[in-house]
Amino acid sequence: MSELLELTAAQAIEAIHRGELDPEAIWSAYRERAAADENNAYTWVANAEPPAVERDAPLAGVPVAVKDLFATEGIPSQAGSKILEHYRPPYSATAVERLAGAGAPLLGKTNQDEFAMGSSTEHSAYGPTLNPWDRARVPGGSSGGSAAAVAAGTAPWSIGTDTGGSIRQPAALCGIVGMKPTYGAVSRFGMIAFASSLDQAGPFTRDVTDAALLLGAMVGKDPRDSTSLGLPEPIAAPTATDLQGIRIGVPEELTGEGIEPGVLERFEATLDIARELGATVEPTKLPHAPHALAAYYILAPAEASSNLARYDGVRYGLRADGDGDLLHMYTATREAGFGAEVKRRIMLGTYALSSGYYDAYYGRAQKVRTRISEDFRAAWESFDFIATPTSPTVAFELGAKLDDPLAMYLNDFCAVPMSLAGIPAISIPNGLADGLPTGFQLAGPAFSENRILDAAFALERAIGFDGSKARQPA
Ligand code: GLN
Repeated sequence: MSELLELTAAQAIEAIHRGELDPEAIWSAYRERAAADENNAYTWVANAEPPAVERDAPLAGVPVAVKDLFATEGIPSQAGSKILEHYRPPYSATAVERLAGAGAPLLGKTNQDEFAMGSSTEHSAYGPTLNPWDRARVPGGSSGGSAAAVAAGTAPWSIGTDTGGSIRQPAALCGIVGMKPTYGAVSRFGMIAFASSLDQAGPFTRDVTDAALLLGAMVGKDPRDSTSLGLPEPIAAPTATDLQGIRIGVPEELTGEGIEPGVLERFEATLDIARELGATVEPTKLPHAPHALAAYYILAPAEASSNLARYDGVRYGLRADGDGDLLHMYTATREAGFGAEVKRRIMLGTYALSSGYYDAYYGRAQKVRTRISEDFRAAWESFDFIATPTSPTVAFELGAKLDDPLAMYLNDFCAVPMSLAGIPAISIPNGLADGLPTGFQLAGPAFSENRILDAAFALERAIGFDGSKARQPA
């Protein structure tokens, strides 16, 4: 069992393809580990035999943990919310179907902030997830369960969603790889919506090779999501060993004030490694990036207030009686079913969209969003990639930011600009500060996934991060 655990997903797949490992062995090892999870990373774990998988399928039966908000047919899909308690969808999300089709059966559903609103997985109606590096700390969020499961080795790999950092930030705080692809690369069909113009699915893995493999199996245009595009070329296994000729821009707005000294130190050390590998590293400017968070906290709640209008006690999940009339049933259901953070966002979003304020808030935030995209477009004239720390801090203690929403929102300071611009970005672990993992973010132009993965692969080898310390004992 402990030997199995040493294998990355790609190595396990190779061993299965060569006939040296049985898919059943990997399934039962991980099923047992997921069932014995000590971090509240799961909201549901498979308890039956997996569907029969062809041993020569691309993903060879290596199972995947899936964030709760992906609809999974007949299996609880609650998006971390009480309002969807016991909801079992009649269909599965396209991303989940694609993975199953490629040979990655569903291992479990993972805990998350309610409707993906949060940066710590403390806003889950099913209790917080704990960080495997230090159980007194958060795993980040909103996809904290998916990140903690991979870091603890209770899942070989997992998927999550990133609206404004929810893959990259928990990946950083848990010492694993997380990637948000270009908006539209992966179908949103069957993803319980938070902010539809921003929501994107992506992989959590132990290393960059696994990230390429898992992402490659998820992407593609889907007639059921009209905003899906797929990618112009298939995702390839990364092979680069250096960064010769690569130009990396370091935006001063996202690498100064507010970043913890330990995080900054690791960031600088990684830039030195990039230089040693042949890259040129130069300061640059993304002048509107400091306004990204403010724009995001208008746009995302505005979209959420609309998306969450469907939870009315009639169509899904929870219903509270109220005092008998329809309107009271609606309000009593929403009062009982939504947590405080979700209510805060609905109120913010409803206010921002109300007539009389629409132009001042929503309209203006959309203009900021455009400016942020233009900043990146200008940067690509001189650089292949933009690099920043993924998260300004290492994992913080449970409860530390719960009473201070603004402090919580600041976690995504470096991640949100890329979300607003719809561009791909990866976070790779780049060391420890005070014994806790830090993340290095590399972002590129739309559809540059293969180039990002290649550069991240070269860096990963040179960094040599060891995540084994966080793994739950066999
Ligand atoms: N932390 C951000 C928020 O609370 C981003 C969440 C996400 O990417 N789903 O909105």
